[in-house]
Amino acid sequence: MLHIGCHLSASKGFEAMGKTALEIGADTFQFFTRNPRGSQAKTLDLQDVQKLRTLLNKHHFAPLIAHAPYTLNPASADPHTREFARQTLADDLARMEHLPGNLYNFHPGSHVGQGTDEGIRLIIEALNAVLTPGQHTTVLLETMAGKGSEIGRSFEELKQILDGVKLNDKMGVCLDTCHIHDAGYSLAELDDTLTAFDKQIGLARLKAIHLNDSLNPQGAHKDRHAPIGQGHIGTERLAQVINHPALQGLPFCLETPNDLDGYAREIALLRSLYRE
Ligand code: FE
Ligand code: FE
Ligand code: ZN
Repeated sequence: MLHIGCHLSASKGFEAMGKTALEIGADTFQFFTRNPRGSQAKTLDLQDVQKLRTLLNKHHFAPLIAHAPYTLNPASADPHTREFARQTLADDLARMEHLPGNLYNFHPGSHVGQGTDEGIRLIIEALNAVLTPGQHTTVLLETMAGKGSEIGRSFEELKQILDGVKLNDKMGVCLDTCHIHDAGYSLAELDDTLTAFDKQIGLARLKAIHLNDSLNPQGAHKDRHAPIGQGHIGTERLAQVINHPALQGLPFCLETPNDLDGYAREIALLRSLYRE
């Protein structure tokens, strides 16, 4: 069973996202919890959230991925930026309790010259401050391309974060195919890459896949997504990702540059390449 969807705009509300997903052949989707570059979160419309929950149940959706804003940086050198990151994480997780059983993904952060070890220490500190034993959301660290001083460019760095988090049974990883390719991992040698992931982190931690092609060659550390088949990864290798035995059952989410028709076409293409 292939669970696939794409990033959707949250501007028309929760139930609207579910309906859009159904229209384009998706059975999962991703959305920003608030403006990706800003801080303001709209007040939750609980009736709207409830309508989405009904729709998700009725149509057997896989877990959804809520994505934190890009501006979040718990590894910042600036204490105000770190405090904003903590408040946003805590507030988002509180809101996610209205959509229990789903995933919350964030970019671990950038150390901005303080060094990887200090960045990792600060990310661990933030997670230990915001995770709660009773939460019903799994928090995902996204694998990063390694542009600038981004943390999470290697499986080792993500493992170090997970090792430091006390409630790490609430934690997992979202693997972004464009990002790991840009970070230097091979999608041509997918078995080797997943073995490396398993050795460092453990495949049981892998909770979601961002399925993107990349505009740049392997190891470029750029993070520019391309439509499926129009980048350096290619349709064939992305088809191997959705068909890999170790990845069955995970939600696959497109973050390719596309309008809704484009997403519908990519979802249909990938469904046609899926071998049951
Ligand atoms: Fe992301
Ligand atoms: Fe991503
Ligand atoms: Zn990206």
